[in-house]
Amino acid sequence: MAAKIIFQAPPPRASAHEIALSAANVINPINQRLEELRLRLRETQPVKVGSVTLGLYACGRGCLTCPHLKWSI
Ligand SMILES: [Zn+2]
Repeated sequence: MAAKIIFQAPPPRASAHEIALSAANVINPINQRLEELRLRLRETQPVKVGSVTLGLYACGRGCLTCPHLKWSI
């Protein structure tokens, strides 16, 4: 079973750096879980037309929403 991802809001007077660190603490476990899910799907799906796959793509430097998901069937 995956670890539960808990969001803790930054303190009301947090600096921009503290807010960014808080966001990273939320996003990183989500991205790790997505990668686990991608690998699990690949393990359990047959390699043929109709299989469900999840692709995770990094678009480039400076993007705050990578990885981008692409579901394929
Ligand atoms: Zn991106």
